[in-house]
Amino acid sequence: MTGLVWFRRDLRLGDNPTWSEATRNHDRVTALFVLDPSILRSAGPHRRPQLEAHLRALDRRLAAHGGRLKVRAGSPEEVLRSEAREAEAVYWNDDYSPYASQRDQRVTDSVSVPTVRFNGVVVHPPGSIRSGKGEPYKVFTPFYRRWATLPITKTTSPGKAEVGSDPGEGVPETTSAILDGGEDAANTRLAAFLEAVDVYAEERDRPDLNQSSRLSSDLKFGTLSAAALASKVGTATAGREAFVRQLAWRDFHFQVLAANPHMLQRALKPEYDEIAWRDDTEGLAAWQSGNTGYPIVDAGMRQLRADGWMHGRVRMITASFLVKDLLIDWRLGERHFRRLLLDFDPAQNVGNWQWVAGTGTDAAPYFRIFNPVTQSKKCDPQGDYIKRWVPELSKLHGPAVHAPWEADPDSLASAGVVLGKTYPAPIVEHRQARERTLAAYRQAVG
Ligand SMILES: Cc1cc2nc3c(=O)[nH]c(=O)nc-3n(C[C@H](O)[C@H](O)[C@H](O)COP(=O)(O)OP(=O)(O)OC[C@H]3O[C@@H](n4cnc5c(N)ncnc54)[C@H](O)[C@@H]3O)c2cc1C
Repeated sequence: MTGLVWFRRDLRLGDNPTWSEATRNHDRVTALFVLDPSILRSAGPHRRPQLEAHLRALDRRLAAHGGRLKVRAGSPEEVLRSEAREAEAVYWNDDYSPYASQRDQRVTDSVSVPTVRFNGVVVHPPGSIRSGKGEPYKVFTPFYRRWATLPITKTTSPGKAEVGSDPGEGVPETTSAILDGGEDAANTRLAAFLEAVDVYAEERDRPDLNQSSRLSSDLKFGTLSAAALASKVGTATAGREAFVRQLAWRDFHFQVLAANPHMLQRALKPEYDEIAWRDDTEGLAAWQSGNTGYPIVDAGMRQLRADGWMHGRVRMITASFLVKDLLIDWRLGERHFRRLLLDFDPAQNVGNWQWVAGTGTDAAPYFRIFNPVTQSKKCDPQGDYIKRWVPELSKLHGPAVHAPWEADPDSLASAGVVLGKTYPAPIVEHRQARERTLAAYRQAVG
């Protein structure tokens, strides 16, 4: 009898518990992917072609087993109801966003065969780590202490089931994707990162050095397994340990959102919904397009637009600038990142936005506000990252690249920079903006 394997955000055959179990338990499996219009509608310009590139690669992998990926467009419950008629059981790896949980419940209710579910998305699933009181954690450090002690489940190797050969509607034609698709390409990216993992602890906050793994979108689409990655990297050096700790952050945000689904729309700490955000269409547009006059912010926002990715430290700086310098609602920033990030994940995005805004899980008080110029000097000392993304400043020397408005007129002139013409003058003055934000937060939360 046939097992139906529903691929979602686990687009790989290696280290995939669902694939392994279904191909062991059945003589024949159907590998299904559903093009869900309600996900595709919000996929943005980068994620959709990337998804299609991964699906094409998965289809090629299945062809090596004599089968095809069956692709069908439609609502998951309708597609699954009809596909499951031929099957003995439906298999999938769990996903934990409010949308995914509700969808999976609807599918479970609509199919007439058993559903068999695994964890192939996170290292330790939401619910597996609880505080002493049996509650989900809201603070990372105690969560991590517990997380780091749990054994990581190893995936068994796949079985010998025959793979169905019906391609369904087939994978849509792709306009070019940012990354090469599929798990082989993801493993090549991983191998390149493993060469540098031992310096990760010292260099991960340096966007100019580009030493973070850049594996976030492979984790998002599941072309890499988070659990296998954590096992493979291990904790033998400070760099490895620091990297695996970031995977724990990822699990942490999954469990925070699963326990607090309202935080997609509202502040995790409800009193912070009282903040009087500014309505500033021009400021928002300047931030989105990378024209705030703060070079590190503009570099990050331009990288996001071009690459569908932004370095993690710069995500924090740009997000903090929107919320704490422009006093614009974090939800507008979250929405912009959601549209453009290749690695967009509801839990990671909203969790980090609320962390930066001080409305979520960050234990630091809201009055600790990033200074974008100090941050810029720290994370991009020579300004190489800025110059890569803001070429109109590439001829500036020394610290002027972090705050061109402080440079003397001769250095600006010899670098061809005319503030307000070739590059924007700063749209806010940080010290004043900081005071304005502190007043707004104070008024809301005391
Ligand atoms: C405002 C804001 C929005 C963000 N939105 C997303 C998002 O939608 N999707 C997403 O995957 N990450 C998001 N992040 C987290 C983080 O910035 C990225 O995961 C990381 O920069 C990706 O680059 P990397 O793979 O080189 O990371 P590395 O530094 O190599 O880290 C390894 C992995 O650990 C995980 N990780 C690292 N930092 C974090 C973090 N702060 N929170 C959760 N997981 C983390 C990621 O899976 C990452 O791939 C956001 C951060 C901020 C500040």
